[in-house]
Amino acid sequence: MTDPSRKKGKKYPFDDDDIQGIFDELMAIKAISLLEPKRSAEVNKTNDPKYCPYHWIISHPIKDCYVFKDIIKDMMRRGEIEIERASPKGPTISSNATLMAEHKDDSYP
Ligand SMILES: [Zn+2]
Repeated sequence: MTDPSRKKGKKYPFDDDDIQGIFDELMAIKAISLLEPKRSAEVNKTNDPKYCPYHWIISHPIKDCYVFKDIIKDMMRRGEIEIERASPKGPTISSNATLMAEHKDDSYP
């Protein structure tokens, strides 16, 4: 489903700087389910700037995680969530669905 060649130049209806806040919000309301950690040795290295909390690996920061961004975009398109960016504290997520289906993507190495 995910083609790495389309990584650059995609437009998302949110800013990269908002991704961490969006991730935190989605986790807080349990709107997303994380992947299973594949490399447990890296799970604890959460201070690494290239640690992706969605993929549990040190590969890319969450703001560059286009798999996660695609999930957000799809959820927004389906009306499952709304992202309110007016808050000075960061984005606020409204969840419209009871619970989303599991989003699995193994495209990252
Ligand atoms: Zn990622």
